[in-house]
Amino acid sequence: MKAELIAVGTELLLGQIVNTNAQYLSRRLADLGIDVYYQSVVGDNPHRIRSAIETARSRADLLVFTGGLGPTQDDLTKDVLAEYLGLALTYDEPSMAKIVSFFESRGVHMVDSNKRQASTITGAAALFNDAGLAVGNAIEADGTRYILLPGPPREMKPMFEGPALSWLLSELGESMPLYSRLLKFAGIGESTLEDKLLDLIDGQTDPTIAPYAKEGEVAIRVATKATTALEAQSKLDIAVEAIRHRVGEYMFAQEDIPLEEGVVRLLRATGRTVSSAESCSGGLFAELITNIPGSSGEYAGGVVTYTNAMKHQLLGIPMAQLEGPGAPGAISESTAALMAERVREIADADYGVSITGVAGPAESEGKPVGLVYYAIAERGKQAEVHTMHLSGSREIIRVRAVKSVLYRLWQSLRGIEQSGQA
Ligand code: ATP
Ligand code: MG
Repeated sequence: MKAELIAVGTELLLGQIVNTNAQYLSRRLADLGIDVYYQSVVGDNPHRIRSAIETARSRADLLVFTGGLGPTQDDLTKDVLAEYLGLALTYDEPSMAKIVSFFESRGVHMVDSNKRQASTITGAAALFNDAGLAVGNAIEADGTRYILLPGPPREMKPMFEGPALSWLLSELGESMPLYSRLLKFAGIGESTLEDKLLDLIDGQTDPTIAPYAKEGEVAIRVATKATTALEAQSKLDIAVEAIRHRVGEYMFAQEDIPLEEGVVRLLRATGRTVSSAESCSGGLFAELITNIPGSSGEYAGGVVTYTNAMKHQLLGIPMAQLEGPGAPGAISESTAALMAERVREIADADYGVSITGVAGPAESEGKPVGLVYYAIAERGKQAEVHTMHLSGSREIIRVRAVKSVLYRLWQSLRGIEQSGQA
């Protein structure tokens, strides 16, 4: 099945918003083994929306629209598609009931245009909007399938994952659904990982093994079609085992979770806690860890000590260590070690981690952009310090530094888990 995404909205063309819906849907459709050959963007103009439909129909079997399902006069997607297909619009009753009660419960007078959000193309499956008011549609006509989703990502995603996906899978034929597993890696670059798995990636047609990368993390998607879930699982198990055999030491999850979540889970499983002292990463480690719900049991807390004065006052690092003739400086192995050890002691945590370096764009202490030291201090052990020479923007350097710390922490925790010292 070949798909085309059509994002409707003049705001997109004016550069006022970014088409994140296309990124999300492209990735999800790829997961399902559906090829997305084109993404288009069209303004809120009926003629141009119609011509986008005509073009897309000539080169795709599945058209997925986002945007233009709202109540206002510039929300035209359903009207244009209905007219194009020669079908009338009706109202979807459950959606209408939701709209009416939405306005009643707020004591706000409902203007007629709000009813438009319940309109649905005759014969289409109505995709109920759990997160908003505008109903989505899914319809097959003359061999082409159309899915209409709302523009706001917080409405679009649940509608896609729920009713739209159910509809799509039933259209694809339940006999051969696609099963897939996402393997996530850290501590290894995309090209190295690909290189180690090259023969599997190239030679394997069922299951298919395909890489994709996110900043600082790398993932592999293993996918297969099978008549039963059991059959699929055993095929996937074999492929995953082959991958694990080669690169298992970098594989932190068999599902789509970020590395920090893998770390939090292992902290929980091993009963360990962590604290952080950050300089050049400005609190990114703390941010990522605390993004994971319930991490308060595992993350004691941390400090951002940006200046030498703060490193001295909050962490008790001697000024003679940080500045003056012959001092190692704030950006040094020994300062990284001290930061990690001190914050671990202060928080009474099992681990203290630290990051100090030059995120750029200018050098600091005469040290080059991208030089980063990080340390992991484990209770009862000497801090272990790592040196990195990173390249890229300030943001990329920060993210990579923090992901490296997370990876080392994950490795240490996995060692504990595997040795049964939890
Ligand atoms: P509404 O009921 O809010 O009007 P709608 O389905 O009519 O929803 P639009 O009016 O096209 O959708 O867009 C509403 C908002 O949704 C936009 O202002 C924007 O914030 C977001 N949005 C729309 N399209 C996209 C897109 N392709 N990617 C990311 N965000 C989008
Ligand atoms: Mg709108």
